[in-house]
Amino acid sequence: MEKIVLISFDVEPDCPPYLSSTTGIEQGMPLILELLSTENVRATFFTTAVIAEKFPKIVKRIVDEGHELGCHGYRHERFDKLSYDEARKAIEKATTLLRRFGDVISFRAPNLMFPEHYIRILIDNNYMSDSSNAKYKPPFPRGLEIFEEGIIRVPASVTSSVLRLPWRIQKAIHSRLKSPIVYFAHPWEYVDMRKKKVRFDCKFGTGEHALKNLQRLIQFHREKGAVFMTFREFVKLVFSSRIQFASQMLSNNTHNFFVKSQSNTLQDFHGNL
Ligand SMILES: [Zn+2]
Repeated sequence: MEKIVLISFDVEPDCPPYLSSTTGIEQGMPLILELLSTENVRATFFTTAVIAEKFPKIVKRIVDEGHELGCHGYRHERFDKLSYDEARKAIEKATTLLRRFGDVISFRAPNLMFPEHYIRILIDNNYMSDSSNAKYKPPFPRGLEIFEEGIIRVPASVTSSVLRLPWRIQKAIHSRLKSPIVYFAHPWEYVDMRKKKVRFDCKFGTGEHALKNLQRLIQFHREKGAVFMTFREFVKLVFSSRIQFASQMLSNNTHNFFVKSQSNTLQDFHGNL
């Protein structure tokens, strides 16, 4: 089975919380959208409601060009610092605003910080995927978590700054990643940030270098026969053919996945490959 690759972008102000400028949206987004169109790849854009309100034309372009619009919170708030009720209000408000542009069923919390029991809020708001966790961050999920309530947690595979390393270094990382491979990056990374007063990891390799590497990344996986998908396409594939998908994953030994329930009766389902 070919590897599945999900490319995603977190559409937010420049390098939050350090800056509140939006050069990434104004200058980075058109470059990303052009490149994806040239390479004929559909991606998922997790967008904050505040950005969508301020830049409706860009959000409309995301949807019109066949990409998926996802939710990245209302104003890029840290959900682990909000109470359950505050989180619920922020998600409901953001969802209502973003759904004016089209259906929104995929979510990623800012800073990849989202308490697991808050998934109930996503279920109640008809989300089908959550990508608020990462394989390289505690509690180090090893693969997909499929909740019986009908939502899948799809963890990010690597942090965004990996995509700005010199190509020969990152190439070795990409070939070792397990499917489904989830990448994320930010519009501001495609603008030259080197002269801005921000942390080093918000600056290095930004601008043209990052854009060139994004193209190399797409071409690298394509040459190996990968299938590019949005989160929406991926979750629909899993739910529509769960048994078949499971057996394919298991026979190829390329994926881990677990079936869970929000009532916390974790069933380790073929969990230890
Ligand atoms: Zn973010």
